[in-house]
Amino acid sequence: MKKIQMVDLQSQYQNIKSEVDAAIINVIEQANFINGPEVSDFKSELEKYLNVSHVIPCANGTDALQIALMALDLKPGDEVITPSFTYIATTEVIALLGLTPVFVDVLPDTFCIDPSKIEEAITDKTKVIVPVHLYGQCADMDAILAIAKKYNLKVVEDTAQAIGADYTHKNGKISKAGTMGDIGCTSFFPSKNLGCYGDGGAMYTNDPHLAASLKKIANHGQVIKYHHEVVGCNSRLDTIQAAILKIKLPLLDGYCSARQKVAEYYNHAFAEVKQITTPYKAPNTTHVYHQYTIKLSGVDRKELIEYLNSHGIPSMIYYPLPAHKQGMFKSFGKENQDLPITNQLTECVLSLPIHTEMEQEQLEYITKHVIYFINSFA
Ligand SMILES: *Cc1c(COP(=O)(O)O)cnc(C)c1O
Repeated sequence: MKKIQMVDLQSQYQNIKSEVDAAIINVIEQANFINGPEVSDFKSELEKYLNVSHVIPCANGTDALQIALMALDLKPGDEVITPSFTYIATTEVIALLGLTPVFVDVLPDTFCIDPSKIEEAITDKTKVIVPVHLYGQCADMDAILAIAKKYNLKVVEDTAQAIGADYTHKNGKISKAGTMGDIGCTSFFPSKNLGCYGDGGAMYTNDPHLAASLKKIANHGQVIKYHHEVVGCNSRLDTIQAAILKIKLPLLDGYCSARQKVAEYYNHAFAEVKQITTPYKAPNTTHVYHQYTIKLSGVDRKELIEYLNSHGIPSMIYYPLPAHKQGMFKSFGKENQDLPITNQLTECVLSLPIHTEMEQEQLEYITKHVIYFINSFA
């Protein structure tokens, strides 16, 4: 049996090696390392795939979030509503820009921000809501967009884990994750569902003014070379990365269904195990399973992780410490904020290996060991 990994990027590469190698060599031969034609090709192809007017490529997902907030003309002290149960980047950029993160609890089933808790967190300083489409399914966007409209707030979607997911609105319209709010932010980090071979990211928007602003900020605040209108940064997608992403974008839907098949296998195998709650998928969104995350009850999680490890099965806790308890936010004094679901999830979630080239044999082996441990020791 092939070695089990959380993500098996080597096996995925082997299946596209000749195309990828040729594309990389081509960029090197052309020496178009910065803003080569592959960057604008990929941008247009992603716009088409997402059915969005503007994609602005950038250097990574964290930059995408930072630049998105910079484009919204906020003042220091303005408040940004965000879940605490997320990867640190979502919340870090808020504080970095002198804004105030306001943490809201998540739903126990979808792990995404709880819309019913957003309204009570709104003050006259609130300017933005940043929902995170955690693990690969969309947050409850109809509810979030309705609140944003009512209070005149901007919505920045963190879709780093959900590229390719579809959300069905109440009116039947289907939107791709990241194209529903004012700005969507994604990451092409290698292990993401559409990953490159280094760092990469992008912002999406349907608003031409925001698109111009995002593009300008990502390019040192300039539209005309050497004329810097606003304070910006240097955030570009490398041509080599764009060339790789151009090859992988047409494969994305296939990659998502491969992940969905893995999830189905796990769901089925764990259906009768009462100590395991398999991931819930909300009816109005597809789930692209960036992570397959179970909730454990009556199981010593640490011992399970060690047992699996000793049998060559990796597993991960995403995320062991929620944002509101991180040292970086100490000055906001939120470490004792009552976010019961967030706090509870950090104690009981466990993510199992899931990727695009998983083999039946590996899945049988993983599920057999998880169930064996639970039946014997729990
Ligand atoms: C990966 C990730 C990011 C950051 O992306 P980078 O490209 O690593 O900067 C932001 N938010 C979430 C939810 C992520 O999973």
